[in-house]
Amino acid sequence: MTTQETIELYNKYVIANYKRLPRVIVKGDGCYLWDADGNKILDMFPGWAVSGIGHCHPKVVEALRKQAGELLHIDNTFYSEQQGKLAKLLSERGFGGKCFFCNSGAEANEAALKLARIATAEGKYKFITAEGSFHGRTFATVTATAQPKYHEGFLPLLPGFIYVPYNDVNALEKAFSDEVCAVMIEPIQGEGGINVATKEYIEAIRRLCDQNGALMLLDEVQTGMGRTGKWFAYQHYDVEPDIVTMAKALGGGVAIGAMTAKEEIAAKLAPGKHASTFGGNCIACAAGIAVVEAIEQDKLLENANKMGEHAKQKLLQLKEKYPVIEEVRGIGLMIGVQLTGPGGEIVDECLARGLRINCTNNTVLRFMPAMIVTKEQIDEAINILDGVLGEK
Ligand SMILES: *Cc1c(COP(=O)(O)O)cnc(C)c1O
Repeated sequence: MTTQETIELYNKYVIANYKRLPRVIVKGDGCYLWDADGNKILDMFPGWAVSGIGHCHPKVVEALRKQAGELLHIDNTFYSEQQGKLAKLLSERGFGGKCFFCNSGAEANEAALKLARIATAEGKYKFITAEGSFHGRTFATVTATAQPKYHEGFLPLLPGFIYVPYNDVNALEKAFSDEVCAVMIEPIQGEGGINVATKEYIEAIRRLCDQNGALMLLDEVQTGMGRTGKWFAYQHYDVEPDIVTMAKALGGGVAIGAMTAKEEIAAKLAPGKHASTFGGNCIACAAGIAVVEAIEQDKLLENANKMGEHAKQKLLQLKEKYPVIEEVRGIGLMIGVQLTGPGGEIVDECLARGLRINCTNNTVLRFMPAMIVTKEQIDEAINILDGVLGEK
């Protein structure tokens, strides 16, 4: 099928709720993609952070082939070895506690919000979330997402949400009351423009939650699974949350989401309180196990740290050269380049030259390569960006 023929199928049969680039992607390998016209693309934003260890990682592909030959899906009426194993791996790399599995980031956050209501005292129902956040598109998670552009047309939203400016300890203190059951934030806001939480802010959330009998929920859907050079971004701070959600990179390209909660909190999700038909099925969990093993066997946390530093240095050199770059920020391989104006055209021009990056919040270039990225690939990406900025 030609590119045009595929696009015509979409035009006729697929709901147009995404703005798509006119390319059909047919193959992925590591940090590269190929389109149906034979163009090779260096991917510095693989799958919106889903392909966190690169496209078609051989260990994930092998685990999927093996599992597919045994059992694709078994429902939660039974046990399966894969779900138990993945829960152990995630629990041990986080703060202990227990896991609930689902199929996406929004579902993991939805589970966390429900758990916060059921696990806190009677009368507690309010959630505090931060301006610029992104937590998903279901009714509860889009309500948690404190950005009016995502709310437009969907009112009324779920009651009980309070929005506060990110990184503002005073505003957080003022927003607290007896009725608050949880604070939900991203340790680094992704869609909001790679905004890194300060140490004071994370510590204040912990303190205020403890003082008010509320739970600290961290949305690590984008920051988790090694993206920042540690398993979870909260591990850069000296603070332990009560609940962490993850998805995106967890399945190496297969749909899976998870919530981990401290044991006594997790215990409140008794049979019948929450569920997911596909959640924790063996094919998704086999992929998750392979991702964790690949990150450890190939020392990808170390690589994420090293390559993150290298990329940041290179981007700071570009900042010296081009006043359009205001700031370079982020941790590990979660890097934002704050521009003085819109970045959409820069992203388009990079793609025309074989480089995929992303622009979020209109003025922030998002640079989030796979954890297997090499120095040479980062340098190649920076050269392309340099060329594009040079012609602006
Ligand atoms: C992508 C994302 C979500 C939503 O995940 P879906 O899998 O699209 O539902 C939630 N929170 C954060 C921080 C995200 O980056």
